[in-house]
Amino acid sequence: MRSMNSKNFRNPALIKKIVNNIHQLADKPVNIMEVCGTHTMAIAQYGIRELLPPSIKLISGPGCPVCVTPAEIIDEIIEISLKTDTIIASFGDMIRVPGSRTTLEKMRSEGSDVRIIYSPLELLGLARDNPGKNIVFAGIGFETTSPLAAAVVTRAKKENIKNLFIVPAFKTVPPALRLIADNRSLRLNAFLLPGHVSVIIGSYPYEFLSKEFGLTGVISGFEPVDILYSIYLILKQIKTNRPKIEIQYSRTIKPEGNTKAQKLLDEVFEKSASEWRAIGNIPGSGLIFRKDYNAFSSRSKFNIKINKPKEPKNCLCGKILMGLKTPEECPLFGKQCTPQKAIGPCMVSSEGTCAAYYKYI
Ligand code: SF4
Repeated sequence: MRSMNSKNFRNPALIKKIVNNIHQLADKPVNIMEVCGTHTMAIAQYGIRELLPPSIKLISGPGCPVCVTPAEIIDEIIEISLKTDTIIASFGDMIRVPGSRTTLEKMRSEGSDVRIIYSPLELLGLARDNPGKNIVFAGIGFETTSPLAAAVVTRAKKENIKNLFIVPAFKTVPPALRLIADNRSLRLNAFLLPGHVSVIIGSYPYEFLSKEFGLTGVISGFEPVDILYSIYLILKQIKTNRPKIEIQYSRTIKPEGNTKAQKLLDEVFEKSASEWRAIGNIPGSGLIFRKDYNAFSSRSKFNIKINKPKEPKNCLCGKILMGLKTPEECPLFGKQCTPQKAIGPCMVSSEGTCAAYYKYI
């Protein structure tokens, strides 16, 4: 199974076999949180909940970076976008997320220079090609994005590029998991841990989950067979009462992660407390520039003060991101709030739980 051929990722016979094994092991209620937005989407898209026995509950967590970015960060980027000598570079999802008043998409339609990029590596070209402009990247994402930003910044420093800035809003996943693991009202038994983030950080940073909280964790791939087999591994661990962190996605992930990327991250950024939208401040969950690289922080260039805005009325995004509510419990879901007219970030992002429920459930 661990060296699974790609032909088997969606093999109906294999899926049936794993589902049967899951049903055989499911003799008591088990609550599993999937942390990653891509898992949330895959679970909804492939109808994985429907294949499971009713005693196994999959709960969606805070793994959508766009969803957990505070509205004041979006307001800050919007404020910068008003400057005529500035180009805002952002991932596509982010430009549609509402701040307190408007979105970057609307700012673009009103004349601001807002460009969608697919990788931070595009920033160097933008900075070189536009020497008269300040390039400001909306630095939003988890450990999958921040090492690329760190690589760009070290390169920019070597090339003496002076017109590239990053809004430092990157987040790290393990501290958020600590907050969730500590919330006993969720009655969590296990985490389905994120595949992409773990490529960088490996499995060691999750070990506190089993050692301190007695929780099971399996780092999973994204295909239906990956997710189902990871659930099977979780149930097997629970059965033997030996919680640990396991890697199902071993074709991509090593326990130590990508040490080169970790070194780069550590060279450019240091950890700090960070605000998660509608959740609150989580110690050690953010990244700020180290002194040697602080000239690349947008905050060293632009002095913008933003007050913390209120969240949209009746939007339950914060509780959904913490696994305390489902989208169907939000009074606005599918009525006032749809992907076409999203009120909260969980409906805007392509990895948001509300968007996943709206599209597939
Ligand atoms: S459906 Fe819309 S308003 Fe309700 S929680 Fe989701 S994003 Fe917020």
